[in-house]
Amino acid sequence: MAIRYRIKCPSCGTVSNVSGNGPCPRCGSLISVETPASFSLYRMGDFRGSATGLSIYINNEPYGQIGNRECLTFPMPYGEYLIHIACGMNRKCNDPVIKLSPEDPNVYMQIRMKAGFFQNSFILNRADPSTMPQ
Ligand SMILES: [Zn+2]
Repeated sequence: MAIRYRIKCPSCGTVSNVSGNGPCPRCGSLISVETPASFSLYRMGDFRGSATGLSIYINNEPYGQIGNRECLTFPMPYGEYLIHIACGMNRKCNDPVIKLSPEDPNVYMQIRMKAGFFQNSFILNRADPSTMPQ
């Protein structure tokens, strides 16, 4: 399976999936996925609400949704990123902050949903790249 990149156009802010460098589907600005760092999110399969996309927020900015068993790679500059996952009324998340640095440029995170009495919550854990779908 080819890597799917989720990018936010620096010119117009449109969030889209791309498979490599290319023009923004909305404004045509060239977007490079060859950033110094990246992180990948993988949503573990779950039978509850599996048809529902989970909303991704990075530093409080919406970055679209992730489907069941979907894996997305976010090309990023070095820096700190707060990841938040929400779905409808389910807004509890462990909100991990990841730090992308020259020593640790590629971070992989798995998203799991934990069922709760009033609402479900989302747990993101760092994962070994070998456990991610290829
Ligand atoms: Zn654009």
